[in-house]
Amino acid sequence: MQNTLKSTVVFKGNGLHSGRPSCMVVYPASAEHGIWFRRTDIGLGDAMIPAMWDAAEHTNLCTRLANTSGVSVSTVEHAMAALAGCGIHNALIEINGPEVPILDGSSAPFVRAFVKCGLRRLAAPVRALQVVKPVTVQKGEASATLHPADGLKIDFTIDFSDPAIGVQSMSLDLANGAFARELCDSRTFCRISDIKVMRTQGLALGGTLENAVVIDGDAILSPGGLRHKNEAVRHKMLDVLGDLTLAGGPLLGHYIGHKAGHTLTNRLLWALFETPGAVRMITCSPEMAARLPGAGLVPDEVPQAAWSRLDLDALKAFCPEKAVINPRGSGQSEPRD
Ligand SMILES: [Zn+2]
Repeated sequence: MQNTLKSTVVFKGNGLHSGRPSCMVVYPASAEHGIWFRRTDIGLGDAMIPAMWDAAEHTNLCTRLANTSGVSVSTVEHAMAALAGCGIHNALIEINGPEVPILDGSSAPFVRAFVKCGLRRLAAPVRALQVVKPVTVQKGEASATLHPADGLKIDFTIDFSDPAIGVQSMSLDLANGAFARELCDSRTFCRISDIKVMRTQGLALGGTLENAVVIDGDAILSPGGLRHKNEAVRHKMLDVLGDLTLAGGPLLGHYIGHKAGHTLTNRLLWALFETPGAVRMITCSPEMAARLPGAGLVPDEVPQAAWSRLDLDALKAFCPEKAVINPRGSGQSEPRD
């Protein structure tokens, strides 16, 4: 069945690019509502922004959504990934500024808060978007492909000249709570030299060593180093889940990305929806729903970094039946670095 939150959840912090403080309140919503943003600082006109693929504006640094009146909200991908990774299908997200707070640069604070709040099951079945025909988009050396699959799988490869990152590949079946366990605590990353360039363009104004992994050649400048040896590719996969969630519901498909970014993943969704017969909406059977991201979240397997401030009892009360209905054996990561 579709889920929403049991109650409201509040996030406060600065935007990564704008540097502006904002307050974001995530409200429960009814079945079939989907995910919508609402800008509470917009007094006149249309302040509602749909979390949909055709509302995304092309930017390589983050995913920005805009409505037809041009009202936008930026850097939605980490919150969107957390909603999908916790199996939350319906929510209204009010925000009093143009950018989602960056928090620690990962999805972990969102996941932690959603899990602590708990979910409410709604009286409507989950409808998923099933990839029927493969679609591919390419730009230079970068490519992104979706193949048919019975769950959501993500394969991703990055290739950076910086020794601190280098070539990293990872393959993950998002079933069985894999997002929370394997991806949610991986932070966004950038070069120290890029920060200087971005700041001359008015970007990354809210970036710090605490909300991004900052590298310089073979050095990790952020205190505490990496949370995972291959944190960079894990974060790219986190971004992919957030960007694919703009399909408007859970996607059943196998995504293969090579050096892809937000723009290419969004172009892939355009290709999916504009290719006749490439995707269809289905009502999930209980077996299908049990393979979706968010189903089968196993509290004890979640990385400590993501849950250090969480009451473990509250975590264990999080939809415990989901952990039972899922057979184990999938959703395991296969890091190849
Ligand atoms: Zn990101």
